[in-house]
Amino acid sequence: MTSVLIIEDEVNLSRILARVLEEEGFQALVEYRGDSGLETALASAPDAVVLDLSLPGMDGLRVCRELRARGLRMPVIMLTARDAVPDRVRGLDHGADDYLVKPFAIEELIARLRAHLRRAGEPNERLVVADLVLEPSARRVRRGGRELSLTAQEFDLLEFLMRHRGQVMSRQRILDHVWGYEAMPVSNIVDIYIHYLRDKVDNSNKAKLIKTVRSVGYVLRT
Ligand code: CA
Repeated sequence: MTSVLIIEDEVNLSRILARVLEEEGFQALVEYRGDSGLETALASAPDAVVLDLSLPGMDGLRVCRELRARGLRMPVIMLTARDAVPDRVRGLDHGADDYLVKPFAIEELIARLRAHLRRAGEPNERLVVADLVLEPSARRVRRGGRELSLTAQEFDLLEFLMRHRGQVMSRQRILDHVWGYEAMPVSNIVDIYIHYLRDKVDNSNKAKLIKTVRSVGYVLRT
């Protein structure tokens, strides 16, 4: 389901937006402050963000800049006050894709969201487990918004585990899928690569995602 994060401190407006988006088949997340909105965006990597310019905690321009600085490239539509033309220009300078001037028709917002999401493109499939986000086509992985640098084999292994989240994968199955049946690897290569992956994915996080199932294999789950 396509998720949209609404960061807007006007409670009535954010509620209406959330309701209409859900009626349109989106999953809506709502935050009322800039700082918590940024945290939620980094943790859940929504498909699009609707961002008010003037917010408590952190203003919308800064939120947008921080998102881009951390490599998040989802469409961001900024909401600005009427006649605040310089704000609109600044919003686009700070990485927003579009803006709407309040008051606006919600239909217009939905139409633009759909257009930007289409442009952002279907090839950008994303696998998400908790705050771990993997984009197969871009070969990118982030945990908690921080980009991880993985080797090709580590990436393939993580992608395989994420595609089968919650399912225990035996070493043999991992070997077959990630290394291929013709590979003649050292016997404990899966364990070695799991160790590398844990170093990069789990070690600096309290919540460990890669779990060992004794004498069976490994599973990725929260
Ligand atoms: Ca506001």
